Amino acid sequence: MTAQDESLDVWIDQELCTGDGICSQYAPDVFELDIDGLAYVKGADGELRQEEGAAVPVPADAVRDVVDSVKDCPGDCIHVRRVSDGVEVYGPEAVDTP
Ligand code: SF4
Repeated sequence: MTAQDESLDVWIDQELCTGDGICSQYAPDVFELDIDGLAYVKGADGELRQEEGAAVPVPADAVRDVVDSVKDCPGDCIHVRRVSDGVEVYGPEAVDTP
């Protein structure tokens, strides 16, 4: 089983975000820097989710870009979870990150 087979969601810990914008370059449909210089997740409606710990679904066609963002995020603060059980599959708390 790979994470790509499952529905995923993603959230950002803004406390650790450096604001470099790597994620928003890799996956602009999912991540965006706000006026405060920090990255937030973005829903399919294009609205940023600014509540602490807010998550959005990872669109199937953005999984690869989101995973690359996780790997290259200098703040180590992008968390991708499996929706079915809430387990982090990519991110600093993932146990099986490839
Ligand atoms: S890649 Fe990580 S540290 Fe950089 S802006 Fe995105 S969430 Fe913040």
